[in-house]
Amino acid sequence: MKSLSKAVSAMPRSGIREFMEIASKLEDVIHLEAGEPDFVTPAPIIDAAFEAARGGFTKYTSNAGFPSLREALARKVREQNGLVGVTAENIVLTPGSVGALATGVLAVANPGDEVLVPDPGWPNYINMVLLAGATPVLYPLRREHGYLPDLDELDALVTPRTKLIMLNNPCNPTGQVFAREVVEGLAAFAARHDLYVLSDEIYEAMVFEGAHEPIAQFDADGRVITVFGFSKTFAMTGWRLGYAVAPAPLAELITRLQEPLVSCASSISQKAAEAALALPDAVSGTMREAYRERRDAVVRLLGTGGANRLACVPEGAFYALVDLSDVSRDSYALAHALLREERVATAPGETFGPSSAGLLRIAFTTGLAEVEEGCRRILRFAAGAGSGGFGDGAAR
Ligand code: PLP
Repeated sequence: MKSLSKAVSAMPRSGIREFMEIASKLEDVIHLEAGEPDFVTPAPIIDAAFEAARGGFTKYTSNAGFPSLREALARKVREQNGLVGVTAENIVLTPGSVGALATGVLAVANPGDEVLVPDPGWPNYINMVLLAGATPVLYPLRREHGYLPDLDELDALVTPRTKLIMLNNPCNPTGQVFAREVVEGLAAFAARHDLYVLSDEIYEAMVFEGAHEPIAQFDADGRVITVFGFSKTFAMTGWRLGYAVAPAPLAELITRLQEPLVSCASSISQKAAEAALALPDAVSGTMREAYRERRDAVVRLLGTGGANRLACVPEGAFYALVDLSDVSRDSYALAHALLREERVATAPGETFGPSSAGLLRIAFTTGLAEVEEGCRRILRFAAGAGSGGFGDGAAR
């Protein structure tokens, strides 16, 4: 038989999914592996979905989504994100922000183009680039630089084939939040090399220190696509709704891509999203404060206040990178052993890129007491690992 798709066969499997699947078959596990809010979607959103379904909003929408929601999102982006001049024609609704990211890459990259992708970074970015037939080129976010991009290193990676840079702010898996001058520098870098920017800002509502600074505020000539979503801000992962904010020519291509891939985002989820946008800020604020409390506990137990095992103090999102490199540099072996010996599920650092060997990502998306207990078990695992005979590869 003829061979199957090379691009799909080349896609690496997400280590997050791998550990979600293993852990789901075990009992008594503390789940720190998945970036999925533990909160229930707020009731008014659920009520609006029922109402929409009963009211007949059960059909296809236009490719870019309901005009009413696009209007509401344009207002949100202008007022909350400070992106003046954004109108409904710049907004495209997609199934999850993953849909906006993937179609954003496809709208820009040709086969053979190079796309700058962060290391560490969310594993799906590489797969999206591979599916577009383009080449992912990793750019380092170095721990010794506080996991911030280094513009000189970025300059050195640009070739005549470089087309796009992908950013994630606030960042998964580091929890790093880019300050205004960092974002401004990145915008200038993109303009200097005539690159497009695809900026994943889905953790915009989860910033504990400083402020969320969208890079699109520094976009002088229409090269930035920003991606936001509903999954994290409103605990709506299963509703599959996100959106791209893009200059009109790019929004037009992203809209066109919806037709062959998905036609449109769910009509019921879109109506529910209108209700989400109408909620008082306090609703997402309450969730943010819960994440902050858990973040503080993680820092107290694992960070500089405690065992000094955090690669950096997370300023946003709901993740932390834990350093167990003195136990092993094989993060898959570490995650397997921690799960087996202490019943704590995490994501192996290396699924986010080669720079995170010896690290594990924890997501504080479970209750405070469980997060604390998970941290204590990680410390116990680290303390016992030397005498327990744990070694590279031993846990596989
Ligand atoms: N971007 C990042 C950095 C993520 O961590 C995730 C989900 O974990 C997504 C995008 C996808 O979110 P959505 O559920 O909106 O597709």
